[in-house]
Amino acid sequence: MIPVLIAEVISENMEVIETIPQMVDWTRQTPRSLGLVPTMGALHQGHLSLVEKARSENVSLAVTIFVNPTQFSESEDLSSYPRDIEADLEILKNAQVDAVFVPEVTEMYPGGYDTWVDVGDIAGKLEGEWRAEHFRGVATIVTKLFGIIRPDFAYFGQKDGQQTVVLNQIVRDLHLGVDLVICPTIRDENGLALSSRNKYLTLAQQSDAGVIYRSLVAGKTKWEKGEKRAVVIRDTVERVLMESDLITEIDYISVADLDGLNEVRLIGGDAMLSVAVRIGSVRLIDNVILSLST
Ligand code: AMP
Repeated sequence: MIPVLIAEVISENMEVIETIPQMVDWTRQTPRSLGLVPTMGALHQGHLSLVEKARSENVSLAVTIFVNPTQFSESEDLSSYPRDIEADLEILKNAQVDAVFVPEVTEMYPGGYDTWVDVGDIAGKLEGEWRAEHFRGVATIVTKLFGIIRPDFAYFGQKDGQQTVVLNQIVRDLHLGVDLVICPTIRDENGLALSSRNKYLTLAQQSDAGVIYRSLVAGKTKWEKGEKRAVVIRDTVERVLMESDLITEIDYISVADLDGLNEVRLIGGDAMLSVAVRIGSVRLIDNVILSLST
């Protein structure tokens, strides 16, 4: 339930909707085109960039805030995941969002719920190797949100590079009839990709964590200078990461093609250079695209 206090903050023009039937009603009545920005809240400038783009490209705009339990494994941070609904609603009101969908977990997954969207190969790579059920949860919740809200356009961040590939696959395979719009990664001044999980870092760690992006840029620069061997690009990234005392673990450094997320040996077409690292117990991901057309 949204506390009464928060309800007072909300503009008359922005509807805050908690139930699926009400959201479906709103969706049916709203003028099109309809843009959707799905989020887990704790909004920052990265989320806002999606909201602003969606606002500028659509007649109507809905944002969802739902910390989706099915995409967290048991060892992950579901219970401590940052939540700040009051600040989020204020941000969205100022961004002229028309409707915010904030369902409870029991609304999305009532007792007896048992249908899952299981994406094949690509969901098992990279993040999937470390977070087995993650993309099953993501694919399921996004499919459900698309079913409820039926957007014309849905906006996602390149920050979660593999997620964009997985979502493209389900939209294609399940004929979901929505156009995905992938938006650039928004970064701190030091290059650190904005993330709700950055809140777990101390300020000193946040400023040192620019090393993650610096490592990707070093790899990309090597590639721009003509290096095509993925192993050399990965080594370059690793060397930069290892120079920092901050990084306690490197889960992976990957150079993968953009279709199947298969590791490439020689970079021919477009590829995604991505990393997952740990700073203590905080796990961060980032990526850059190696593309001749960008
Ligand atoms: P989340 O709340 O983390 O599930 O993210 C919601 C959406 O915002 C996803 O499509 C993310 O990829 C996107 N997003 C998160 N951080 C950033 C960022 N720094 N730049 C651009 N998009 C982002």
